[in-house]
Formats: sequence, C-alpha cells, structure tokens
Amino acid sequence: MNARQDTALQDSAKSATLLADLRTRFSGRLLTDESDTAPFLLDWRKRYVGKAMAVAQPDSTEDVAAVVRWCAEHRIAVVPQGGNTGLVGGGVPDESGHSILLSLARMNRVRAVDTINNTITVEAGCILQHVQQAAREAERLFPLSLGAEGSCMIGGNLSTNAGGVQVLRYGNTRELCLGLEVVTPSGEIWNGLRGLRKDNTGYDLKDLFIGAEGTLGVITAATMKLYPQPVAQVTAIAAVPDPQAAMKLLGMAQSRLAASLTGFELISDYCLTIVERHFAQCRRPVSTPSPWYVLLESSDSESEAHAAERFEALCSEALESGTITDAAIAASIAQSRAFWALRESVPEAQVLEGKNIKHDISVPISSIDRFIIETNATIEAAYEGVRMVVFGHLGDGNLHYNVSPAPGVSPEAFMSNEPAINRIVHDAVATHRGSISAEHGLGQLKRDENVRYKSPVEIALMRSIKQALDPQGIMNPGKVVG
Ligand code: FAD
Ligand code: ZN
Repeated sequence: MNARQDTALQDSAKSATLLADLRTRFSGRLLTDESDTAPFLLDWRKRYVGKAMAVAQPDSTEDVAAVVRWCAEHRIAVVPQGGNTGLVGGGVPDESGHSILLSLARMNRVRAVDTINNTITVEAGCILQHVQQAAREAERLFPLSLGAEGSCMIGGNLSTNAGGVQVLRYGNTRELCLGLEVVTPSGEIWNGLRGLRKDNTGYDLKDLFIGAEGTLGVITAATMKLYPQPVAQVTAIAAVPDPQAAMKLLGMAQSRLAASLTGFELISDYCLTIVERHFAQCRRPVSTPSPWYVLLESSDSESEAHAAERFEALCSEALESGTITDAAIAASIAQSRAFWALRESVPEAQVLEGKNIKHDISVPISSIDRFIIETNATIEAAYEGVRMVVFGHLGDGNLHYNVSPAPGVSPEAFMSNEPAINRIVHDAVATHRGSISAEHGLGQLKRDENVRYKSPVEIALMRSIKQALDPQGIMNPGKVVG
C-alpha cells in the first residue's frame, strides 16, 4: 500500500466514524454509496465533478438545522443543492471530499396559500412547476418561468435570484419574494416568513440570502407573491432589421401596452437557423428574411378582443414606421407555444451543434445595440468564421451571448480560446457598465472573473458580509467569494 492509499483509507475511516451519529438521525436519508451520490456530484453542464462525505436528504427545517449544526461542530463544509440545474457549478462540492451535500429535494410541501394576501408559502425543495401549478389551482399566477422549471426548485431559484422570460413585467425571483425561513451557518433557524409588502424595520435580511448561492445559509422555505391570472395572452414574432430597431420596438410596445407587456425576447437569424436544422417541427412563422427577430408577449386583464386590438395597433404602427419588416401574431395557444418553442430550443440546438463559449451578460438597454455590433465585430475579426449565437431577454438588457466555432475547427482547438474570448466580452460589458452574470450567478465558474470586474471596495464589502455570517467559512466554500 502506498502513502496516498494509506491516507485515503484513514480519511474514509475517519469519515465513517464522524458520520455514525448523523446516520442514526437520518436513517435511510444519508447516502454514502458512490452509485447513490454520483448524480448529486456532477453539475448540469458536466463541467464539475465534486466529492462529498455523504448526501443528506432532510425532510424538515429542524433536520436541516441538525445537519448544519453537526457540520459547524466538526468544521465540515455544507453544500446546499436544489434541482442541480445551475449553470456555474455552484451546487456541487469541491474535490476535497470534506463536505456534506445537503439536498433540499425532500422538503417539497406547499405550506400555505393565502388568496387574500396573494401569497404562497412553500418549502425550498418545491419544483418550480409545482409552485406554478399550486398557484393555478388557487386561480392565481406565480409568474416565475424558465427553461429548467420542470427540475429547478424554489430554494435554488431564490439562491440564484433566477430570471427567465417574464422579468420585464414581474421582476426577478428577488422581487417575487416577501419572506424567508433560513438555517444559519451555526444551525439556528430564522423564521422570516412574513407576507408583508411594506416593512421598514431595519436591514432587509432576506435580500442577503437571495442570490447568495448558498454561501450565507440554507433557505428552507419562502413566502412568494401571487398575481391575478391574465384573461388573455397574445404572442407575436416580428422581423427587425437590426438590434437598434428592436430597441425602438421595445419603446413602442412599452408605451402602447404598458404593464401588459410581459415578454420581449431578441433572437438572431442564426439562432433560428440552427433551431430549424435540428428540430423539424420548428419553423419561423414569418417569410421575410431578416437578420433579427423579436418575440413579444402581452398579458391582458380585460378580454381576448382587447388584447388582440392593442397588439394589432402596435404591429401596424411598427410596420408603417419601418421598425419591423414583418410580423406574425399567434392565432391559437398551440401557435403561441410553437413561437416560444423556437426561442426555448436555441440552447438545445446549440448543444447539438457542438461546444460553444457562453456568456450571460447584461448592459443598460440603451447600450444593447452598440454592445452587440461592436463586440461581434471584435470577435469576428479575431476569430475568422466564428458563429455568433445571440439571443435573450432584450426587455431586461440581458443577453445570452454565445460563440460557436467556425466550420471545420475542432472543438478542443476552439475551446482553448475561451479565456481570450471571455476577456473580449467581459471587457465590453465593463465598458458599458454592465454585469458579467445577469442570470446564472457566479458559482465556481465566474468567481474570479467577478473579482476582476468589481471594485476592491465592493469585493471587500462582500467578503465582510460572508465573514460576519459564516465566520468558519463552512457554507458552500469556494463559491461566489474566494
Ligand atoms: P441548484 O442548481 O441546485 O443550485 C444553484 C445554487 O443555489 C447553488 O449554489 C446551490 O448551492 C444554491 N442552493 C440551492 N438550493 C439552495 C437552498 N435551499 N438554500 C441555499 N442555497 C441553495 N436561470 C435563469 O435565471 N433564467 C433562465 O431562464 C434559466 N434557464 C435555464 C434553462 C435550462 C435548460 C437550464 C438547465 C438552466 C437554466 N437556468 C436559468 C439556470 C438554473 O435553472 C437556475 O439557476 C435555477 O434557479 C437553479 O435552481 P436549482 O434548484 O436547480 O438550483
Ligand atoms: Zn435567460
């Protein structure tokens, strides 16, 4: 036996002794076999594989607190995980094997629905689609909606402050949250499940835990806002000559439709080309060729007729002024779904096309056109023949700005350019005072990049918050702040 094997054996014997008391409390809910733990230790994009002493699956807030107290006592890291759909490696542990992965999946109860206060209180492990469903059953709308909604969980949505396709009207997850229940890094339970829309009693602690990616505590439950269900929805796809015209269309739609405008997505022609190449059922609904398209949606509280009338007036005005060159309005729910399928299939089509370099950025909406034109030109000049895959939530100033290799270039050769291409994109973002991560968070992937672009003052403030709440550094170490 060599020295390394010997240490590994000692480590695993130590882990087994340490775990014995946890095992008595979590009979059947503490996974240690590699075949059971493996799915929790690999991230969605298969970029990170971690190791853990065990995967704990608590059923209750008290159980979460017991795990965290145990970890605090033994100075063992806690890595919270929801649906494991995160895209930046935030929900998987490092390779040290000195951590407990805390899966919230069994904490999946809807605790209360209050249709007068328009709130729903849910546990962290509720799958987003189930929260939407519970709201629908109460004749209300829970508006958070994203591609991963069949797997991601509300605790993960809160911890990443997820966005999605209705942010324009309803805001990010942060704006939808009124109260939280949290287990602190020392294992105490903070019950902040308030359903209040106004509360000025000092620091808003819930906002610290939202978007913290599990580095400040474990979210165990949340009170979220509900809205009236819309009476009618209208979806359209419009062809626009360039991003500047798309911005102009956004202004027109905002003044004509006001708060009814719920979605405004920009999609480049190349995005639709790859979607059509890989999904036979997906076809763009407008025949005029165009370099860019916009998918717009409005939700009306009056009637179908009222919604259609306002939308048609907007399209006519946009056509007459040359802001758009063509438009198709969905005539049925099925057609509306087909329009959304075009937009939502872009990431999958990109996967089928092969490896690509992804960015998830935001800039002020007024800078979007210059950002796209200037950054595309810089990248295309430096890497001849690359394909720019640009789409996203224009109404929020947030773009998925991805780069695919030129035809014939091997994926490995192309991916070796990732740091240099990231530099071009993130420097351009910084020039426009934007954000290098508008939706997906920092996790492990962008932790160091964040330090590069934020001021030392801001980074120091982030580190002091981390130090104040988690002095032992056991909460999801190595993520967000170093
Ligand atoms: P996980 O991946 O399990 O965890 C994410 C982070 O939160 C980790 O750091 C983890 O440690 C922490 N965490 C999880 N639960 C808790 C908890 N209870 N307490 C404390 N910390 C916790 N994101 C968007 O914002 N908008 C999109 O439109 C969008 N579309 C997507 C589409 C697809 C197909 C995929 C795969 C992902 C998409 N994402 C999107 C990213 C991802 O779905 C979101 O970040 C989502 O909110 C993560 O939820 P989750 O439950 O899977 O969290
Ligand atoms: Zn997005």
